[in-house]
Amino acid sequence: MNKTTVKIPFVDLKIQHQPIETQLHQAIHAILERGDFILGQALADFEAAFAAASGAEYGVGVASGTDAIALGLQACNIGAGDEVILPANTFIATLIGVLRAGAKPILVDCDPKTALIDLSAAAKAITPQTKAIIPVHLYGQMVSPRQLLDFADTYKLLIFEDAAQAHLAERDGYRAGSVGIAAAFSFYPSKNLGAFGDGGMLLTRDPDVAQKMVRLRNYGASQKYFHVEPGTNSRLDTLQAAVLLEKLPHLPQWNRDRLTIAQQYDIELAPLASAGIIPVQNQSDSGHVYHLYVIKVDESCVVERQQIQDKLTADGIQTGIHYPIPCHLQPAFTYLGYQQGDFPQAEKLAQQILSLPMYPGLSSSQIKEVVAAIANIALPSSNTEDDSSVAIGSRAA
Ligand SMILES: *Cc1c(COP(=O)(O)O)cnc(C)c1O
Repeated sequence: MNKTTVKIPFVDLKIQHQPIETQLHQAIHAILERGDFILGQALADFEAAFAAASGAEYGVGVASGTDAIALGLQACNIGAGDEVILPANTFIATLIGVLRAGAKPILVDCDPKTALIDLSAAAKAITPQTKAIIPVHLYGQMVSPRQLLDFADTYKLLIFEDAAQAHLAERDGYRAGSVGIAAAFSFYPSKNLGAFGDGGMLLTRDPDVAQKMVRLRNYGASQKYFHVEPGTNSRLDTLQAAVLLEKLPHLPQWNRDRLTIAQQYDIELAPLASAGIIPVQNQSDSGHVYHLYVIKVDESCVVERQQIQDKLTADGIQTGIHYPIPCHLQPAFTYLGYQQGDFPQAEKLAQQILSLPMYPGLSSSQIKEVVAAIANIALPSSNTEDDSSVAIGSRAA
């Protein structure tokens, strides 16, 4: 009754599943027939296909992106006594993965233009214990591989990519998952490539890392009932792999759709820059896969981010904030000893960012509607509520 009806959802997965529903049903049915629910053929097929698509040698499917990070770091022999550098403005799973591997997380600040890890800040955080850096390819944009490889070479560090938001992203001629010793992906349903539940994968070019990962996800067993290390149970279900294998061929087109949507947002939002509405910068051209389209509501805007989000909600437009509290200020991790003020750019971004609707199938007129709603409240000379149906960003006469 009080609830506003959603006109434009933040994500709509039905749009991508509907055209391939028959194939998805068939893929699931085939697994029911075969009965190879654990470590079945579709898993091996999907691991090979996703690794090949990403420019990596080996793929090892696990239960979640978080497990891909935690077990993946272990598989790379990163753990107790090692320091691992990661950005403060990431999804909490990056930090949790480092802690679960037994390593010491060293948080650093980000570049406010791109929201990606600031490598000059990372350089200052290096100690003799630093073993690895985790670039998070946030929002679907890769941290520059060229700069990363230079950085890792200078300081003799391993690169472990958090590519959970960057399936098939490209930059400097590299694909996400092909830059470091290994990379973690998530197949959470709303990711660019999503399962019908949780799932994740480690990609690597190193056969030893791949083999150790295969053991770690399967109770540390090198062969049945022979356990060479304390592993766990974290396998990507054959059913999920079958769904993902069916969806993978569509991913390049879905990513292109996301890019087209982002390019329209960029154009429609350009007149609002002087009003303090600034999209997070794309520095990788068509290689950005736009898991999220994020704007900043900066200090020069006449209204607060919260007011803009509330207005959009009232207009039936769903938005998100990725993420409202940086890792170092989360209650669970105060014991790490960080404080407010330690990472000013990450803290400021958390106050300013707003993620707009983004999914393959979002229409051009919906994009105009989102931008018009923002313009309506953020432009100093904006129309009153009565005129809120007038699409300011619209080219229509
Ligand atoms: C989604 C995500 C993860 C975790 O993946 P799950 O599959 O949800 O465990 C890790 N890092 C980033 C940046 C993510 O977006």
